[in-house]
Amino acid sequence: MSYVQDVINKVKERNPHEPEFIQAVTEVLESLEPALERHPEYEQAGILERIVEPERQILFRVPWMDDNGKVQVNRGMRIQFNSAIGPYKGGLRLHPTVYPGIIKFLGFEQIFKNSLTGLPIGGGKGGSDFDPKGKSDLEIMRFCQSFMTELYRHVSADIDVPAGDIGVGGREIGYLFGQYKRITGLNEGVLTGKGLSYGGSLARTEATGYGLVYFVDEMIQDKNKSLNGARVIISGSGNVAIYALQKINQLGGKVIAMSDSTGHIHDENGIDFATMQKIKEVERKRISEYLKYFPQAEYVEGESIWRYPCDIALPCATQNELKQADAEMLIAHGCYAVGEGANMPCTPEAVKLFQENKVMFAPGKAANAGGVATSALEMSQNSMRYSWTFEEVDAKLKNIMVSIYRNASQTAKEYGHEDNLVVGANIAGFLKVANAMVSQGLV
Ligand code: GLU
Repeated sequence: MSYVQDVINKVKERNPHEPEFIQAVTEVLESLEPALERHPEYEQAGILERIVEPERQILFRVPWMDDNGKVQVNRGMRIQFNSAIGPYKGGLRLHPTVYPGIIKFLGFEQIFKNSLTGLPIGGGKGGSDFDPKGKSDLEIMRFCQSFMTELYRHVSADIDVPAGDIGVGGREIGYLFGQYKRITGLNEGVLTGKGLSYGGSLARTEATGYGLVYFVDEMIQDKNKSLNGARVIISGSGNVAIYALQKINQLGGKVIAMSDSTGHIHDENGIDFATMQKIKEVERKRISEYLKYFPQAEYVEGESIWRYPCDIALPCATQNELKQADAEMLIAHGCYAVGEGANMPCTPEAVKLFQENKVMFAPGKAANAGGVATSALEMSQNSMRYSWTFEEVDAKLKNIMVSIYRNASQTAKEYGHEDNLVVGANIAGFLKVANAMVSQGLV
């Protein structure tokens, strides 16, 4: 049995109740075969066995009081997966589906994504099964304060730097930061995605969505296609989706459908950024509100958002949202490129179909790395006690996304898998971490 298959089997045995983690590990490890053939020394050094096991997993109780004075308890966690190339870095997710298996899959992906950015950040992820939906502002604050009251002892600007993910945006980062500062007295860059008046970076809010579009733009230009006039479907309407929408519009494309967890809207005239931003970021309402402003749009529940003919599909909602049947529809309708804005939004069956049908496929750990890359830029600015302009950060972000694309595409070619960005991104991200681990001895 190959080294890779042996390690995958061990991961399955050791983590039997964590299907998302097993899926992420299998996808990465299987694509590393060509790199391991060239580097037999990694097996002796146990690199794969080490890389699939988090350095540290912290699980804790988060008691908080709701608006009725009743005590509620959630489970909090932070998984410090790999620090070979820098402090642990990765978001916090607040969603009822959160359990260690989800955080481990995200933390594992984060190792390679962060490596691809070219910046010195290791991989970590955290979160809680707390459901922010329908909670008051004060409940959110009390939850965040309680969460940080435990987490503060495990993080710092040089140890582990959390940020946002699903359910965690500027408001939550603000409450977490305030509590960290209150407990430790340290005014340091322990979190990214902070408000602009207290250490946040310009363009961090926009970064994941913009970065996704910069990446896809570079990828399709390589095959002589253009965003100008392209029809695009974006699933989701959170931070990634909203700023992908804005950038697609700026570059001359048209977004014809977007969704939230209840349903999707479809508008052949193209979705308006300012309206969507207002509904989702300011009013925190359902996507169906969009029809109040644009009555010609349709609102659909219970049907796949991938059913409309489009050129480019950008899944920006959540893991495993785009399934085989969705991929079949997209391919039948002539979609030629897919860019993952969320983490692992396409199932392995869907990815296989895209690749077999020569649909350009940009895997999340490359295509959505712009968020965490800009977080690393926020860390740099905090360390310098300085801030760059929007244009400076945006230009750096764009350079990083173009470099990630070139690195992934070049690596794919070098390892005999031309045009396979999954293989290219995984190998490129892996080699840097593996070499750092070898250099640092038995860590
Ligand atoms: N949660 C985002 C990601 O998946 C951002 C992480 C960060 O900025 O640290 O990359």
